[in-house]
Amino acid sequence: MSFKQNLSNTSLNTDWKAVFSLYLFFAYFSVLPQLLLYVTDSTVFVGLRQAVVMSVFWFVPILLLPRFFKQVAASIGLLLWLTSLVSIAYFCIYGQEFSQSVIFTIFESNPAESQEFIAQYFVWWMIPVFLAHTLAAWLLWRRVKPIVFPARKAVMASGIILFILLIFPFLKYRYIDHKPMGDTVEKMKLKIEPAVQWQLVMGYVQYREQLANMQDLMQGNAQILPLQNLQDKNANLPATLVLVIGESTNRQHMSLYGYPRKTTPLLDAMKGELQVFNQVIGPRPYTIEALQQVLTFADQENPDLYLTKPSIMNMMKQAGYKSFWITNQQTMTRRNTMLTTFSKYTDKQVYLNNTRLQNSRQYDGDVLAPFAEALQDTAPRKLIVLHLLGTHMKYKYRYPDEYIHFKDNANLAPVLGEDKVEVINSYDNAVLYNDFVVASIIKKYQASQQNGFLVYFSDHGEDVYEAPGYNVLGRNEARPTLPMYAVPFLLWMTPDWKAKLPEITDDVRERPYSTSHFIHTWADLAGLTFDDFEPHKSLINPDFKALPLLVGNPDIPKSLKILPKAK
Ligand SMILES: [Zn+2]
Repeated sequence: MSFKQNLSNTSLNTDWKAVFSLYLFFAYFSVLPQLLLYVTDSTVFVGLRQAVVMSVFWFVPILLLPRFFKQVAASIGLLLWLTSLVSIAYFCIYGQEFSQSVIFTIFESNPAESQEFIAQYFVWWMIPVFLAHTLAAWLLWRRVKPIVFPARKAVMASGIILFILLIFPFLKYRYIDHKPMGDTVEKMKLKIEPAVQWQLVMGYVQYREQLANMQDLMQGNAQILPLQNLQDKNANLPATLVLVIGESTNRQHMSLYGYPRKTTPLLDAMKGELQVFNQVIGPRPYTIEALQQVLTFADQENPDLYLTKPSIMNMMKQAGYKSFWITNQQTMTRRNTMLTTFSKYTDKQVYLNNTRLQNSRQYDGDVLAPFAEALQDTAPRKLIVLHLLGTHMKYKYRYPDEYIHFKDNANLAPVLGEDKVEVINSYDNAVLYNDFVVASIIKKYQASQQNGFLVYFSDHGEDVYEAPGYNVLGRNEARPTLPMYAVPFLLWMTPDWKAKLPEITDDVRERPYSTSHFIHTWADLAGLTFDDFEPHKSLINPDFKALPLLVGNPDIPKSLKILPKAK
Protein backbone atom coordinates (compact mmCIF):
# COMPACT_ATOMS: atom_id res chain seq x y z
CA MET A 1 0.00 0.00 0.00
CA SER A 2 1.42 3.37 -0.93
CA PHE A 3 1.59 6.43 1.30
CA LYS A 4 -0.74 8.38 -1.00
CA GLN A 5 -3.48 5.80 -0.71
CA ASN A 6 -3.05 5.81 2.97
CA LEU A 7 -3.32 9.55 3.19
CA SER A 8 -6.60 9.58 1.35
CA ASN A 9 -8.02 6.76 3.45
CA THR A 10 -7.29 8.42 6.74
CA SER A 11 -10.04 10.35 8.43
CA LEU A 12 -9.31 13.57 10.29
CA ASN A 13 -9.17 11.70 13.57
CA THR A 14 -5.63 11.04 14.66
CA ASP A 15 -4.62 7.47 14.12
CA TRP A 16 -2.91 6.70 17.44
CA LYS A 17 -1.77 3.34 16.24
CA ALA A 18 0.14 5.09 13.47
CA VAL A 19 1.58 7.56 15.98
CA PHE A 20 2.80 4.67 18.08
CA SER A 21 4.31 2.86 15.08
CA LEU A 22 6.21 5.99 14.10
CA TYR A 23 7.41 6.47 17.67
CA LEU A 24 8.60 2.85 17.76
CA PHE A 25 10.51 3.40 14.53
CA PHE A 26 12.33 6.47 15.87
CA ALA A 27 12.85 5.20 19.41
CA TYR A 28 14.20 1.85 18.25
CA PHE A 29 17.52 3.33 17.13
CA SER A 30 18.18 5.20 20.38
CA VAL A 31 16.59 2.81 22.82
CA LEU A 32 18.32 -0.32 21.54
CA PRO A 33 21.91 0.79 22.35
CA GLN A 34 20.78 2.22 25.71
CA LEU A 35 18.82 -0.94 26.49
CA LEU A 36 21.88 -3.08 25.75
CA LEU A 37 23.98 -0.89 28.05
CA TYR A 38 21.38 -1.04 30.79
CA VAL A 39 20.63 -4.77 30.72
CA THR A 40 24.34 -5.60 30.74
CA ASP A 41 24.61 -3.33 33.78
CA SER A 42 27.33 -1.22 32.23
CA THR A 43 25.73 2.11 32.99
CA VAL A 44 22.91 3.71 34.98
CA PHE A 45 19.24 3.87 33.99
CA VAL A 46 19.19 7.55 33.06
CA GLY A 47 20.45 7.07 29.48
CA LEU A 48 17.64 4.61 28.69
CA ARG A 49 15.06 6.94 30.17
CA GLN A 50 16.39 9.85 28.14
CA ALA A 51 16.33 7.77 24.96
CA VAL A 52 12.67 6.81 25.56
CA VAL A 53 11.62 10.37 26.32
CA MET A 54 13.78 12.28 23.86
CA SER A 55 12.75 10.17 20.88
CA VAL A 56 9.44 12.05 20.98
CA PHE A 57 11.44 15.01 19.67
CA TRP A 58 11.41 13.57 16.14
CA PHE A 59 7.68 14.23 15.92
CA VAL A 60 8.40 17.95 15.70
CA PRO A 61 9.74 18.00 12.10
CA ILE A 62 7.08 15.42 11.16
CA LEU A 63 4.27 17.59 12.52
CA LEU A 64 5.62 20.78 10.99
CA LEU A 65 6.25 19.32 7.53
CA PRO A 66 3.20 17.07 6.92
CA ARG A 67 3.51 17.34 3.13
CA PHE A 68 6.95 15.73 3.26
CA PHE A 69 6.05 13.07 5.76
CA LYS A 70 7.73 10.23 3.94
CA GLN A 71 10.92 12.11 3.12
CA VAL A 72 11.32 13.56 6.59
CA ALA A 73 10.63 10.29 8.38
CA ALA A 74 12.95 8.41 6.05
CA SER A 75 15.77 10.94 6.44
CA ILE A 76 15.53 10.88 10.23
CA GLY A 77 15.44 7.08 10.13
CA LEU A 78 18.47 6.94 7.86
CA LEU A 79 20.48 9.28 10.06
CA LEU A 80 19.52 7.35 13.21
CA TRP A 81 20.24 4.03 11.53
CA LEU A 82 23.73 5.14 10.51
CA THR A 83 24.66 6.54 13.91
CA SER A 84 23.15 3.57 15.73
CA LEU A 85 25.44 1.27 13.73
CA VAL A 86 28.43 2.97 15.30
CA SER A 87 26.93 2.82 18.79
CA ILE A 88 26.09 -0.86 18.41
CA ALA A 89 29.49 -1.73 16.97
CA TYR A 90 31.20 0.11 19.80
CA PHE A 91 29.02 -1.66 22.34
CA CYS A 92 29.67 -5.08 20.79
CA ILE A 93 33.41 -4.59 21.01
CA TYR A 94 33.90 -2.59 24.20
CA GLY A 95 30.64 -3.22 26.06
CA GLN A 96 30.44 0.52 26.55
CA GLU A 97 28.72 3.62 25.30
CA PHE A 98 30.24 5.63 22.47
CA SER A 99 31.23 9.12 23.65
CA GLN A 100 33.09 12.19 22.59
CA SER A 101 36.06 10.86 24.56
CA VAL A 102 36.30 8.11 21.93
CA ILE A 103 36.54 10.79 19.28
CA PHE A 104 39.18 12.50 21.41
CA THR A 105 41.12 9.24 21.67
CA ILE A 106 40.94 8.75 17.92
CA PHE A 107 42.14 12.25 17.13
CA GLU A 108 44.75 12.38 19.87
CA SER A 109 46.39 9.08 19.05
CA ASN A 110 49.02 8.91 16.38
CA PRO A 111 47.71 7.70 12.99
CA ALA A 112 48.90 4.11 13.52
CA GLU A 113 47.14 3.87 16.88
CA SER A 114 43.88 5.32 15.60
CA GLN A 115 43.93 3.01 12.62
CA GLU A 116 44.32 0.14 15.02
CA PHE A 117 41.43 1.52 17.06
CA ILE A 118 39.15 1.89 14.06
CA ALA A 119 40.26 -1.43 12.57
CA GLN A 120 38.76 -3.14 15.59
CA TYR A 121 35.31 -2.08 14.43
CA PHE A 122 35.54 -4.32 11.43
CA VAL A 123 35.42 -7.89 12.63
CA TRP A 124 33.42 -10.42 10.64
CA TRP A 125 30.62 -11.04 13.12
CA MET A 126 29.66 -7.38 13.03
CA ILE A 127 28.08 -8.09 9.64
CA PRO A 128 25.30 -10.44 10.87
CA VAL A 129 24.69 -8.12 13.83
CA PHE A 130 24.33 -5.16 11.49
CA LEU A 131 22.07 -7.12 9.16
CA ALA A 132 19.77 -8.19 11.99
CA HIS A 133 19.65 -4.62 13.29
CA THR A 134 18.87 -3.29 9.82
CA LEU A 135 16.17 -5.92 9.25
CA ALA A 136 14.48 -4.97 12.53
CA ALA A 137 14.63 -1.29 11.50
CA TRP A 138 13.16 -2.17 8.10
CA LEU A 139 10.26 -4.10 9.64
CA LEU A 140 9.49 -1.15 11.89
CA TRP A 141 9.66 1.21 8.91
CA ARG A 142 7.13 -0.89 7.02
CA ARG A 143 4.60 -0.35 9.78
CA VAL A 144 4.97 3.42 9.55
CA LYS A 145 1.92 5.17 8.13
CA PRO A 146 1.35 8.89 7.59
CA ILE A 147 -0.30 10.70 10.45
CA VAL A 148 -2.82 13.38 9.83
CA PHE A 149 -2.99 16.23 12.25
CA PRO A 150 -4.96 19.40 11.56
CA ALA A 151 -2.41 22.21 10.99
CA ARG A 152 -3.24 24.16 14.13
CA LYS A 153 -3.12 21.09 16.32
CA ALA A 154 0.21 20.10 14.74
CA VAL A 155 1.82 23.43 15.58
CA MET A 156 0.48 23.29 19.11
CA ALA A 157 1.66 19.72 19.62
CA SER A 158 5.15 20.65 18.38
CA GLY A 159 5.23 23.56 20.77
CA ILE A 160 4.24 21.33 23.68
CA ILE A 161 6.87 18.72 22.77
CA LEU A 162 9.60 21.35 22.50
CA PHE A 163 8.52 22.96 25.75
CA ILE A 164 8.48 19.73 27.75
CA LEU A 165 11.64 18.23 26.28
CA LEU A 166 13.87 21.26 25.89
CA ILE A 167 12.56 24.64 26.94
CA PHE A 168 11.29 23.75 30.40
CA PRO A 169 14.42 21.77 31.47
CA PHE A 170 16.60 24.60 30.17
CA LEU A 171 14.69 27.27 32.09
CA LYS A 172 14.63 25.08 35.20
CA TYR A 173 18.42 24.52 35.32
CA ARG A 174 19.17 28.10 34.47
CA TYR A 175 16.62 30.09 36.47
CA ILE A 176 15.18 27.81 39.16
CA ASP A 177 18.35 25.87 40.03
CA HIS A 178 20.45 28.95 39.15
CA LYS A 179 23.10 27.01 37.26
CA PRO A 180 25.66 28.95 35.21
CA MET A 181 25.02 29.11 31.45
CA GLY A 182 27.92 26.78 30.61
CA ASP A 183 26.69 24.07 32.99
CA THR A 184 23.13 24.45 31.72
CA VAL A 185 24.18 23.97 28.11
CA GLU A 186 26.32 20.97 29.09
CA LYS A 187 23.41 19.42 30.98
CA MET A 188 21.11 19.89 27.99
CA LYS A 189 23.65 18.29 25.67
CA LEU A 190 23.92 15.29 27.99
CA LYS A 191 20.14 14.99 28.08
CA ILE A 192 19.75 15.02 24.31
CA GLU A 193 22.73 12.77 23.54
CA PRO A 194 21.09 9.34 23.89
CA ALA A 195 18.21 10.22 21.57
CA VAL A 196 19.94 11.98 18.73
CA GLN A 197 23.27 10.16 18.95
CA TRP A 198 24.55 13.67 19.58
CA GLN A 199 27.90 12.28 20.63
CA LEU A 200 28.44 11.21 17.04
CA VAL A 201 26.90 14.12 15.22
CA MET A 202 28.26 16.80 17.51
CA GLY A 203 31.16 14.98 19.11
CA TYR A 204 33.70 16.49 16.80
CA VAL A 205 32.40 20.02 17.39
CA GLN A 206 32.56 19.44 21.14
CA TYR A 207 36.00 18.00 20.79
CA ARG A 208 37.19 21.14 18.98
CA GLU A 209 35.61 23.29 21.67
CA GLN A 210 37.33 21.48 24.55
CA LEU A 211 40.56 21.49 22.62
CA ALA A 212 40.39 25.27 22.28
CA ASN A 213 39.82 25.64 26.04
CA MET A 214 42.71 23.33 26.65
CA GLN A 215 44.98 25.20 24.29
CA ASP A 216 44.25 28.44 26.17
CA LEU A 217 45.23 26.74 29.41
CA MET A 218 48.31 25.25 27.76
CA GLN A 219 49.35 28.61 26.39
CA GLY A 220 48.98 30.11 29.84
CA ASN A 221 51.15 27.32 31.22
CA ALA A 222 53.79 27.86 28.55
CA GLN A 223 54.16 31.45 29.71
CA ILE A 224 54.80 30.51 33.32
CA LEU A 225 58.37 31.22 34.36
CA PRO A 226 60.44 28.16 35.29
CA LEU A 227 61.43 27.51 38.91
CA GLN A 228 64.25 29.77 39.98
CA ASN A 229 67.53 28.29 41.20
CA LEU A 230 66.45 24.69 40.76
CA GLN A 231 68.99 22.38 42.39
CA ASP A 232 68.83 18.63 41.98
CA LYS A 233 70.62 16.50 44.58
CA ASN A 234 70.18 13.50 42.30
CA ALA A 235 71.15 15.22 39.07
CA ASN A 236 72.33 12.72 36.46
CA LEU A 237 71.29 9.70 38.53
CA PRO A 238 68.88 7.32 36.82
CA ALA A 239 65.53 7.41 38.58
CA THR A 240 61.90 6.44 38.09
CA LEU A 241 59.42 8.32 40.27
CA VAL A 242 55.81 7.18 40.42
CA LEU A 243 52.80 9.18 41.55
CA VAL A 244 49.55 7.25 41.95
CA ILE A 245 46.50 9.45 42.42
CA GLY A 246 43.52 7.57 43.77
CA GLU A 247 39.89 8.60 43.71
CA SER A 248 37.24 8.92 46.43
CA THR A 249 38.98 6.47 48.74
CA ASN A 250 38.44 7.15 52.41
CA ARG A 251 41.27 5.60 54.44
CA GLN A 252 38.82 4.83 57.24
CA HIS A 253 37.50 2.06 55.00
CA MET A 254 40.93 0.44 54.64
CA SER A 255 42.05 -2.32 57.00
CA LEU A 256 45.54 -0.84 56.55
CA TYR A 257 44.21 2.05 58.63
CA GLY A 258 42.34 -0.11 61.13
CA TYR A 259 38.96 -0.64 59.46
CA PRO A 260 37.57 -3.86 60.96
CA ARG A 261 36.68 -5.34 57.55
CA LYS A 262 39.65 -6.80 55.71
CA THR A 263 39.43 -4.47 52.71
CA THR A 264 43.16 -4.10 51.97
CA PRO A 265 44.71 -7.56 52.48
CA LEU A 266 47.50 -7.03 49.92
CA LEU A 267 48.61 -3.67 51.26
CA ASP A 268 48.31 -5.03 54.82
CA ALA A 269 50.79 -7.76 53.85
CA MET A 270 53.22 -5.13 52.56
CA LYS A 271 52.83 -2.86 55.56
CA GLY A 272 56.38 -3.43 56.79
CA GLU A 273 57.85 -2.02 53.58
CA LEU A 274 55.47 0.92 53.28
CA GLN A 275 55.49 4.28 54.98
CA VAL A 276 51.86 4.72 56.02
CA PHE A 277 50.95 8.30 56.95
CA ASN A 278 48.00 8.46 59.29
CA GLN A 279 46.72 12.02 59.33
CA VAL A 280 46.61 13.29 55.78
CA ILE A 281 43.61 15.03 54.25
CA GLY A 282 42.72 16.27 50.76
CA PRO A 283 41.99 20.03 50.72
CA ARG A 284 38.71 19.85 48.80
CA PRO A 285 36.18 17.04 48.27
CA TYR A 286 36.11 17.33 44.45
CA THR A 287 38.66 15.90 42.00
CA ILE A 288 39.53 18.93 39.87
CA GLU A 289 39.45 21.41 42.73
CA ALA A 290 41.64 19.15 44.88
CA LEU A 291 44.18 18.35 42.16
CA GLN A 292 44.51 22.00 41.16
CA GLN A 293 46.12 22.39 44.57
CA VAL A 294 47.76 18.98 44.98
CA LEU A 295 49.75 19.16 41.75
CA THR A 296 50.71 22.85 41.97
CA PHE A 297 51.66 25.64 44.38
CA ALA A 298 48.01 26.62 44.83
CA ASP A 299 46.49 25.95 48.24
CA GLN A 300 43.41 26.97 50.21
CA GLU A 301 44.87 30.42 50.86
CA ASN A 302 46.18 30.99 47.31
CA PRO A 303 43.80 28.97 45.14
CA ASP A 304 44.76 30.56 41.81
CA LEU A 305 48.48 29.91 41.84
CA TYR A 306 47.96 26.90 39.58
CA LEU A 307 47.55 29.40 36.76
CA THR A 308 50.75 31.36 37.38
CA LYS A 309 53.29 28.96 38.90
CA PRO A 310 54.74 25.69 37.64
CA SER A 311 53.11 22.34 38.43
CA ILE A 312 54.82 19.12 39.54
CA MET A 313 54.77 18.06 35.89
CA ASN A 314 56.54 21.30 34.84
CA MET A 315 59.01 20.90 37.70
CA MET A 316 59.99 17.39 36.72
CA LYS A 317 60.37 18.35 33.09
CA GLN A 318 62.64 21.20 34.12
CA ALA A 319 64.66 18.70 36.16
CA GLY A 320 65.12 16.57 33.03
CA TYR A 321 62.61 13.77 33.61
CA LYS A 322 60.64 12.17 30.81
CA SER A 323 57.05 12.14 32.00
CA PHE A 324 54.04 9.86 31.45
CA TRP A 325 50.40 10.33 32.37
CA ILE A 326 48.23 7.22 32.41
CA THR A 327 44.64 7.93 33.32
CA ASN A 328 41.51 5.89 33.85
CA GLN A 329 39.42 9.03 34.36
CA GLN A 330 37.19 10.55 31.69
CA THR A 331 39.03 12.94 29.41
CA MET A 332 36.69 14.90 27.19
CA THR A 333 33.99 16.15 29.48
CA ARG A 334 33.68 19.86 30.01
CA ARG A 335 34.57 19.49 33.67
CA ASN A 336 37.64 17.38 33.05
CA THR A 337 39.33 19.79 30.64
CA MET A 338 41.64 20.98 33.42
CA LEU A 339 42.67 17.39 34.20
CA THR A 340 43.33 16.62 30.56
CA THR A 341 45.37 19.82 30.36
CA PHE A 342 47.46 18.64 33.32
CA SER A 343 48.04 15.40 31.44
CA LYS A 344 49.29 17.42 28.48
CA TYR A 345 52.09 18.89 30.59
CA THR A 346 53.69 15.45 30.42
CA ASP A 347 55.50 13.95 27.44
CA LYS A 348 53.28 10.94 26.84
CA GLN A 349 49.64 10.31 27.68
CA VAL A 350 47.53 7.18 27.82
CA TYR A 351 43.76 7.76 28.07
CA LEU A 352 41.86 4.65 29.08
CA ASN A 353 38.39 5.86 29.96
CA ASN A 354 36.01 6.61 27.09
CA THR A 355 32.72 6.31 28.96
CA ARG A 356 30.11 8.97 28.33
CA LEU A 357 28.82 9.02 31.91
CA GLN A 358 30.98 8.90 35.04
CA ASN A 359 28.51 6.32 36.43
CA SER A 360 29.60 3.59 34.00
CA ARG A 361 31.49 0.38 34.40
CA GLN A 362 35.26 0.87 34.17
CA TYR A 363 38.05 -0.98 35.99
CA ASP A 364 41.40 0.40 37.14
CA GLY A 365 43.22 -2.86 36.36
CA ASP A 366 43.46 -1.39 32.83
CA VAL A 367 46.31 0.89 33.98
CA LEU A 368 48.66 -2.02 34.70
CA ALA A 369 49.65 -2.82 31.10
CA PRO A 370 50.46 0.78 30.06
CA PHE A 371 52.26 1.23 33.40
CA ALA A 372 54.46 -1.80 32.66
CA GLU A 373 55.15 -0.32 29.26
CA ALA A 374 56.15 3.07 30.70
CA LEU A 375 58.47 1.31 33.18
CA GLN A 376 60.22 -0.29 30.21
CA ASP A 377 60.85 3.03 28.51
CA THR A 378 64.59 3.49 28.15
CA ALA A 379 64.72 7.12 29.33
CA PRO A 380 67.09 7.20 32.33
CA ARG A 381 64.89 9.54 34.37
CA LYS A 382 61.14 9.10 34.37
CA LEU A 383 58.08 10.46 36.10
CA ILE A 384 55.02 8.23 35.79
CA VAL A 385 51.66 9.61 36.94
CA LEU A 386 48.80 7.12 37.27
CA HIS A 387 45.35 8.59 37.75
CA LEU A 388 42.88 5.97 38.96
CA LEU A 389 39.10 5.92 39.05
CA GLY A 390 39.51 4.33 42.49
CA THR A 391 36.29 4.01 44.43
CA HIS A 392 34.29 6.68 42.64
CA MET A 393 30.51 6.39 42.44
CA LYS A 394 28.85 4.19 41.27
CA TYR A 395 30.87 1.88 43.46
CA LYS A 396 29.50 -1.33 41.95
CA TYR A 397 30.92 -0.32 38.54
CA ARG A 398 34.49 -0.20 39.88
CA TYR A 399 35.22 -3.92 40.35
CA PRO A 400 34.72 -7.21 38.54
CA ASP A 401 32.50 -9.92 40.04
CA GLU A 402 35.42 -11.74 41.70
CA TYR A 403 35.64 -8.84 44.11
CA ILE A 404 32.11 -9.15 45.43
CA HIS A 405 33.31 -10.13 48.87
CA PHE A 406 31.32 -8.06 51.38
CA LYS A 407 27.69 -9.13 51.20
CA ASP A 408 26.19 -8.91 54.69
CA ASN A 409 26.31 -6.42 57.54
CA ALA A 410 29.26 -7.98 59.39
CA ASN A 411 31.30 -5.33 61.22
CA LEU A 412 28.85 -2.56 60.36
CA ALA A 413 26.78 -0.49 62.77
CA PRO A 414 23.61 -2.52 63.57
CA VAL A 415 21.37 0.52 63.09
CA LEU A 416 22.11 0.69 59.36
CA GLY A 417 19.19 -0.33 57.14
CA GLU A 418 19.47 -2.87 54.36
CA ASP A 419 19.78 -0.33 51.52
CA LYS A 420 22.62 1.48 53.28
CA VAL A 421 24.39 -1.80 54.02
CA GLU A 422 24.21 -2.63 50.32
CA VAL A 423 25.86 0.68 49.39
CA ILE A 424 28.58 0.25 52.03
CA ASN A 425 29.23 -3.29 50.82
CA SER A 426 29.71 -2.13 47.26
CA TYR A 427 32.03 0.63 48.47
CA ASP A 428 34.07 -1.85 50.50
CA ASN A 429 34.25 -4.20 47.51
CA ALA A 430 35.57 -1.26 45.47
CA VAL A 431 38.18 -0.62 48.19
CA LEU A 432 39.12 -4.31 48.02
CA TYR A 433 39.66 -4.06 44.26
CA ASN A 434 41.56 -0.78 44.69
CA ASP A 435 43.84 -2.69 47.10
CA PHE A 436 44.59 -5.14 44.30
CA VAL A 437 45.29 -2.32 41.83
CA VAL A 438 47.53 -0.25 44.13
CA ALA A 439 49.41 -3.30 45.43
CA SER A 440 49.93 -4.53 41.85
CA ILE A 441 51.31 -1.13 40.83
CA ILE A 442 53.74 -1.17 43.76
CA LYS A 443 54.82 -4.75 43.00
CA LYS A 444 55.37 -3.98 39.31
CA TYR A 445 57.45 -0.98 40.29
CA GLN A 446 59.49 -3.02 42.77
CA ALA A 447 60.06 -5.75 40.21
CA SER A 448 61.36 -3.24 37.66
CA GLN A 449 64.29 -2.55 40.02
CA GLN A 450 64.47 1.11 39.11
CA ASN A 451 65.71 3.57 41.65
CA GLY A 452 63.31 6.06 43.20
CA PHE A 453 60.03 6.19 45.11
CA LEU A 454 56.30 5.74 44.70
CA VAL A 455 53.60 7.81 46.40
CA TYR A 456 49.93 6.87 46.56
CA PHE A 457 47.12 8.97 47.96
CA SER A 458 43.50 9.64 47.10
CA ASP A 459 42.35 13.05 45.83
CA HIS A 460 39.75 13.19 48.63
CA GLY A 461 37.69 10.79 50.73
CA GLU A 462 34.03 9.80 50.61
CA ASP A 463 31.37 9.64 53.30
CA VAL A 464 29.51 6.34 52.95
CA TYR A 465 26.96 6.62 55.77
CA GLU A 466 29.79 6.99 58.21
CA ALA A 467 29.66 10.40 59.93
CA PRO A 468 27.46 10.55 63.06
CA GLY A 469 23.83 9.97 62.12
CA TYR A 470 24.79 7.61 59.26
CA ASN A 471 22.93 9.77 56.76
CA VAL A 472 25.56 11.29 54.51
CA LEU A 473 26.46 9.68 51.20
CA GLY A 474 29.17 11.19 49.03
CA ARG A 475 30.73 14.61 49.52
CA ASN A 476 29.48 18.08 50.21
CA GLU A 477 31.84 20.95 50.79
CA ALA A 478 29.15 22.99 52.52
CA ARG A 479 28.72 20.27 55.16
CA PRO A 480 32.18 18.79 55.61
CA THR A 481 32.70 15.55 57.50
CA LEU A 482 36.04 13.87 58.19
CA PRO A 483 35.35 10.87 55.89
CA MET A 484 35.07 13.27 52.91
CA TYR A 485 38.66 14.39 53.49
CA ALA A 486 40.51 11.51 55.20
CA VAL A 487 42.78 10.02 52.55
CA PRO A 488 45.33 7.20 52.54
CA PHE A 489 48.89 8.38 51.97
CA LEU A 490 51.53 5.72 51.28
CA LEU A 491 55.16 5.96 50.33
CA TRP A 492 57.46 3.24 49.09
CA MET A 493 61.14 3.94 48.44
CA THR A 494 63.96 1.86 47.00
CA PRO A 495 66.67 1.25 49.61
CA ASP A 496 69.16 3.59 47.87
CA TRP A 497 66.65 6.36 47.72
CA LYS A 498 65.56 5.83 51.30
CA ALA A 499 69.16 6.18 52.47
CA LYS A 500 69.30 9.71 51.05
CA LEU A 501 66.23 10.98 52.86
CA PRO A 502 65.63 11.91 56.49
CA GLU A 503 64.41 8.97 58.59
CA ILE A 504 60.66 8.55 58.73
CA THR A 505 59.77 7.87 62.34
CA ASP A 506 56.42 7.18 64.02
CA ASP A 507 56.13 10.90 64.79
CA VAL A 508 56.57 11.79 61.14
CA ARG A 509 53.82 9.35 60.16
CA GLU A 510 51.47 11.07 62.61
CA ARG A 511 51.93 14.56 61.17
CA PRO A 512 48.67 16.29 60.30
CA TYR A 513 48.99 17.31 56.66
CA SER A 514 46.92 18.58 53.75
CA THR A 515 47.88 17.43 50.27
CA SER A 516 47.35 21.06 49.17
CA HIS A 517 51.06 21.39 50.04
CA PHE A 518 52.04 18.14 48.39
CA ILE A 519 54.30 19.81 45.79
CA HIS A 520 56.79 20.57 48.59
CA THR A 521 56.76 16.95 49.79
CA TRP A 522 57.22 15.72 46.24
CA ALA A 523 60.14 18.08 45.57
CA ASP A 524 61.73 17.06 48.86
CA LEU A 525 61.39 13.35 48.06
CA ALA A 526 62.83 13.92 44.58
CA GLY A 527 65.79 15.85 46.01
CA LEU A 528 64.84 19.14 44.37
CA THR A 529 65.13 22.62 45.89
CA PHE A 530 64.33 26.03 44.37
CA ASP A 531 63.36 29.52 45.50
CA ASP A 532 59.69 28.69 46.11
CA PHE A 533 60.44 25.50 48.05
CA GLU A 534 59.17 25.73 51.65
CA PRO A 535 60.66 22.93 53.76
CA HIS A 536 58.11 23.39 56.54
CA LYS A 537 55.37 22.38 54.07
CA SER A 538 57.07 19.06 53.28
CA LEU A 539 55.61 16.11 55.15
CA ILE A 540 59.01 14.40 55.46
CA ASN A 541 61.23 17.44 56.18
CA PRO A 542 62.89 17.84 59.61
CA ASP A 543 61.67 21.48 59.56
CA PHE A 544 58.03 20.42 59.05
CA LYS A 545 55.43 22.57 60.81
CA ALA A 546 51.85 21.45 61.33
CA LEU A 547 49.57 23.98 59.64
CA PRO A 548 45.81 24.25 60.16
CA LEU A 549 43.99 21.76 57.93
CA LEU A 550 41.81 24.19 55.98
CA VAL A 551 38.75 22.90 54.18
CA GLY A 552 35.95 24.76 52.37
CA ASN A 553 35.65 26.76 49.20
CA PRO A 554 38.64 29.14 48.92
CA ASP A 555 36.70 31.37 46.53
CA ILE A 556 34.56 32.23 49.53
CA PRO A 557 37.30 32.77 52.14
CA LYS A 558 34.68 33.08 54.89
CA SER A 559 33.64 29.48 54.27
CA LEU A 560 37.09 28.13 55.12
CA LYS A 561 37.25 26.17 58.33
CA ILE A 562 39.72 23.99 60.12
CA LEU A 563 39.00 20.26 60.02
CA PRO A 564 39.26 19.45 63.72
CA LYS A 565 41.03 16.12 63.88
CA ALA A 566 42.32 14.19 60.94
CA LYS A 567 42.53 10.81 62.62
ZN1 LIG B 1 37.75 12.86 43.05
